[in-house]
Amino acid sequence: MNDFRMLIDGAQVAGESGSFDVINPATGAAFAQCPAGSLAQLNQAVDAAGNAFKQWKHSTHEDRCKRLHAIADDLEREAAELARLIVQEQGKPLALAMSEVMGSVVWTRYSAEQEMPVELVEDNANQRIELHRKPLGVVASITPWNWPFMIAVWHIMPALRAGNCVVSKPSSLTPLSTLRLVEIIARHVPKGVINIVTGERGFGGAIATHPNINKIVFTGSTPTGQSVMRAAAGNLKRLTLELGGNDAAIVLPGTPVEAVVEDIFKAAFLNMGQTCSALKRLYVHESQYDAFAEALAAIARRQVVGDGLEPGTDFGPVQNLDQLELVAVLVEDARAQGARVLTGGERLDRPGFFYPPTIVTGVTDGQRLVDEEQFGPVLPVIAYSDVKDALRRANASDMGLGGSVWGTDLEQAQAVAGELESGVAWVNCHAQIQPNTPFGGSKLSGFGVEFGLEGLLEFTTQQLKFVRKAVPQ
Ligand code: NAD
Repeated sequence: MNDFRMLIDGAQVAGESGSFDVINPATGAAFAQCPAGSLAQLNQAVDAAGNAFKQWKHSTHEDRCKRLHAIADDLEREAAELARLIVQEQGKPLALAMSEVMGSVVWTRYSAEQEMPVELVEDNANQRIELHRKPLGVVASITPWNWPFMIAVWHIMPALRAGNCVVSKPSSLTPLSTLRLVEIIARHVPKGVINIVTGERGFGGAIATHPNINKIVFTGSTPTGQSVMRAAAGNLKRLTLELGGNDAAIVLPGTPVEAVVEDIFKAAFLNMGQTCSALKRLYVHESQYDAFAEALAAIARRQVVGDGLEPGTDFGPVQNLDQLELVAVLVEDARAQGARVLTGGERLDRPGFFYPPTIVTGVTDGQRLVDEEQFGPVLPVIAYSDVKDALRRANASDMGLGGSVWGTDLEQAQAVAGELESGVAWVNCHAQIQPNTPFGGSKLSGFGVEFGLEGLLEFTTQQLKFVRKAVPQ
């Protein structure tokens, strides 16, 4: 049961503070133990990364590219086992966990092939000016519990590709698949280049204040991101903050229900709704309101809710009890204000943290279920009468991760999407991401991007090389 170890300076080590339970959300019971590291071990990991950086920063692009492909080969070979572990600690159905691993393979190979550009700014008889990119040093990766494996890959692979060394700190709710990921990466890089520490509390803050960490790539909630930003000021750590979202979708009048409703359902309930860029508020024109709500409820009722490892399950549990309770509180709050729960709306009476897909109508802005990020299996459907007003309400949020517009008139849909205050604006889709397209939030959803060239450059600092050609005589 206890074969999970941290990795520090190339060695697999137990936690100096003992271990803690990892709960399977489908049963509510512990299924494994995770090492609880000490702050001294965190310091060792940071020192190891700092030492390894002295060599790793000089490794060639070809070398890093080859090593990342070798890692991707191993991830692919071990995908089935990794996916089962993700289901056990995170709860999602096996097919989705498999796509999390295979997506990670794709992202790793994309990172492997990325080029680090040198930009020629000016070259003439007198001078040559080039903009170079250099790695930052020690990068700490802090990850959440919703897509634990994939998000760790999103952080670690471009960081390594750019020539940094990494200390990974996964969520204590889902640390095990990241421990395995780091074990695999470590087969293919020199010792100290990748390290991982796990623990229940205290690490996040210690990482944010650590004087020898140069950058933090953080994915998690807005309040924690704010605390990271405050604590990171000491040595002016570079930050990428991928924070919470409360993505709105606006369905334009006259959009055929059957043509889009499946996609809307999938975007809202992706990973049981526990996805930063999931569709979290659905604005539907009053002329089609009932038809959309009923069609969504019909799809929700069809979902087979169960343990992600059981064949046939297409809807797993909520990852943890706190999140389930938040979802339940938001639904109760809406109900108390006169909302209708078309389907779902009650925790299932069985072990584990099961809450079925829930569709709520008769809700509006100013209510908690609409204004707050539910991050779980419930979708508020909100009526509007005027597109401009829907847009105003969609933008009346502190969050600005993504948003979408759905409709048959592409020109109109694009025009409305262009007015959304969000890092990403989708038309006739939502939560679509791919390795070559920079992704990141605006407003309280964070700053900095992942993916694409812009994502890679977040792991670098610039050096302008300015050469006067006339040699001093
Ligand atoms: P969280 O903020 O509670 O935890 C995230 C990570 O931060 C965990 O590893 C946690 O241990 C660590 N942490 C806790 N306190 C810390 C501190 N003081 N300093 C540094 N690190 C600390 O978030 P969560 O509940 O794990 O994840 C859910 C949230 O993440 C949601 O709001 C969701 O929208 C967001 N999220 C955003 C994206 C994105 O790309 N924008 C992706 C996935 C999830």
